[in-house]
Amino acid sequence: MDGDGRQGSILVVEDVEGEHAHLRRSLGHRGHRVTRASGHDALERIESIRPDVVIVGPGEARAVLASLPRESGVTLLPVLVLCATQDSDARVELLRAGALLCFAGPQDPVELEAHIGAAVAVGRRYAALRELALTDELTGLGNRRHGEHELAQQVARSTRHGHPLGLALADLDGFKAINDVHGHEAGDVVLREVAARLAGCLRGGDTLARWGGEEFVAILPDTGPEGVLLTAERLRGSVGGEPYLVGAERIALTASVGWAAWRGEDPREFVLRADRALYEAKRAGRDAVRPDAA
Ligand code: GH3
Ligand code: MG
Ligand code: MG
Repeated sequence: MDGDGRQGSILVVEDVEGEHAHLRRSLGHRGHRVTRASGHDALERIESIRPDVVIVGPGEARAVLASLPRESGVTLLPVLVLCATQDSDARVELLRAGALLCFAGPQDPVELEAHIGAAVAVGRRYAALRELALTDELTGLGNRRHGEHELAQQVARSTRHGHPLGLALADLDGFKAINDVHGHEAGDVVLREVAARLAGCLRGGDTLARWGGEEFVAILPDTGPEGVLLTAERLRGSVGGEPYLVGAERIALTASVGWAAWRGEDPREFVLRADRALYEAKRAGRDAVRPDAA
């Protein structure tokens, strides 16, 4: 299906429902995975599907372009605008707002497909680079940048919908001693296994990221205080449950976990609260779970 790398995932944003049904069908026939969105849910669909390319009508184009995250002023997602207008100024404006291409009027379907194929190839390259930039090499988990991005997204989502949101920070206890006694390589093996155990505690929509050297963050959408506490206990239990087998050695390890339930604050303050709770768990003697009680 992805034979020449020019078939990909395409999100078509329609100003009017069914407006681009013909285009969607024809892209589907050519092997692309096509999803539609209204202007209203475009950003959320972009976040959840992570398409290679977005195609949008002129009515929604400005709003979609304005809402896309940018790096160094560039949107890392090719956006193609299907303009009905021959108005060059309007197209220039859309290109300046971050569109990759603006089409005027009806298109030759073969040429349009060629443009879309080229945009898909660019979008897939962006996606591969993004993946690299957000992945922790040792554990394969998301890195801190990924964790921060996800947390910002989830706080924004909870702000919009009023959904609960949970956060847990897990820090390994006395990990420096494991490196000192068993060597840094053994420490790395243990960290990988910790990551796998922690990941096994979470649900599909949750995010786990490596927050620091031996510190992990779990972001728990749609989870109220009871659920966050349960998950935090599961995280602690999974790290401390069984010893880690490294070569002929069995290494015992525990984790301390601090958690917080979102109260409407910004991501930075939310993390600070979980961090305070983690500090309390350490102060309580480690291998413990604490909420932010403040
Ligand atoms: P505490 O219970 O207070 O958290 O004690 P700790 O020893 O876990 O905390 P500390 O911050 O003193 O030490 C963290 C250690 O984690 C030291 C550092 O070398 C180790 N570490 C961080 N990243 C890595 C890594 O990628 N691999 C290995 N092997 N060790 C790492
Ligand atoms: Mg530690
Ligand atoms: Mg630490």
